[in-house]
Amino acid sequence: MLVMKFGGTSVKNGEAVDRVSGIISARVDRQPIVVVSATGDTTDRLMDILDRIDDNRPGAMAIADDIEAKHHTLIREVVTDSAQQAIAFDKVNAEIRRLKDMVVAMEQLGDVSPRSRDAVAALGERMSAPILAGSLASRGINAVSVDPGTVIRTDANYGMARPDIDVTKQQCLAVLVPLCRSGQVPVVGGYVGATDKGIITTLGRGGSDLTASVIAKCVEASGLIFWKDVDGILTADPRIVKNARPLSRITFEEAAELTFLGSGVLHPASIQPAVEAGIPVTVRNSYKPESEGTAILRGSRPETGSLPPERAAASITYKKGQALVSIYSTRMLGASGFLRRVFEVFDRLKISVDHIATSEVNITVTVKDGASVDVLAKELEAVATIHVTHGMSIVSVVGESLRTTAGVAARIFTALRDINVRFITHSGATTNLSLVVEDARVNDAIVALHAQLFEKERMPS
Ligand code: ASP
Ligand code: MG
Repeated sequence: MLVMKFGGTSVKNGEAVDRVSGIISARVDRQPIVVVSATGDTTDRLMDILDRIDDNRPGAMAIADDIEAKHHTLIREVVTDSAQQAIAFDKVNAEIRRLKDMVVAMEQLGDVSPRSRDAVAALGERMSAPILAGSLASRGINAVSVDPGTVIRTDANYGMARPDIDVTKQQCLAVLVPLCRSGQVPVVGGYVGATDKGIITTLGRGGSDLTASVIAKCVEASGLIFWKDVDGILTADPRIVKNARPLSRITFEEAAELTFLGSGVLHPASIQPAVEAGIPVTVRNSYKPESEGTAILRGSRPETGSLPPERAAASITYKKGQALVSIYSTRMLGASGFLRRVFEVFDRLKISVDHIATSEVNITVTVKDGASVDVLAKELEAVATIHVTHGMSIVSVVGESLRTTAGVAARIFTALRDINVRFITHSGATTNLSLVVEDARVNDAIVALHAQLFEKERMPS
């Protein structure tokens, strides 16, 4: 069985759904299980409905009408078989009715509970799955949409529910596997689950990836493909570096670091279940199905042998809008308890620190820039002398090679010789080297690093 997950952009309109149906049709012999997100920005619009009702603003019903119209259009475009079209209309109309009933009820109550939020937020996936199934069935594929509530069992932590793997596995074996075995193609809406009482929950924004990964683990899939709207994981942001190119392979640890350090392609927590279960995971572009995409290798060190040996690094990523906070203390830094007092302040203000560098008399950290940084500085002044620099960006070079290949750091600093680097962290134990530069120079820094690390022959050693 092959689990394939399609994101919202991959099913945003009729043309996109047709392309996706073609991708699935070409792989029916691999016993696919399809996981699909809500179409386009449907989830955002459902959230907009909820926020309007919550803030007592008008317009919720008008958005529901528009969601209805868009889904009707999509059905007419992609579910071309008339019997299948009737089924898709029935299913989608039932969800639309629920949506409108809930809008009326919530508007009357003037209240949106976390449980109601999830019931509404889940509707996008509850509509996209029957439409995609109908599109496949119109091509003669024996596809059926499956209620995600019967597959993914979760706790009752609405808005961020966690799957119960044991029960989910039983449900996968009871519901999905028999469908595959009998030659059918199950299409499951992502992002959605249900509690032991059958109440609808959601897994948090972007949660369809987690659905796919959990299902892949539970059915012991032969593979998991995340179909996105990019060519896999790239060497850099293509909006900044025009020569950015997709990586054929990356380790899980590198992929996780990249997400943490700023790239949005995959959430590591989402892919972890499948990667840990040893299932081959790839990220591919549904708009360019012929391109190979990026394979994510399990673990890190044990498998670095399977990375291309000439690779200087995996990728360059960045985060803009950062501040550097320098904490000086000549008397206190070596004294016990000082770090605790400093970090207690971060903890109390719920400010998370990304990178830390220390010397005998100074600790410098990077934090997200904004008004809270000034509050932080004020509080820290009670324990030390503080200096804040706003308008900074963190540029990170990520790659297993940083801990195994001599000379990568030298190449990084050579590339940045004309740029003022304000801060550097690299522990030798991790797969990233991060630097802080002014926001205004971040693009120059990335372009220079990319040219040095990815567009040149290896320097003679
Ligand atoms: N539709 C949900 C969202 O937009 C889940 C997903 O796409 O993964 O967050
Ligand atoms: Mg989405």
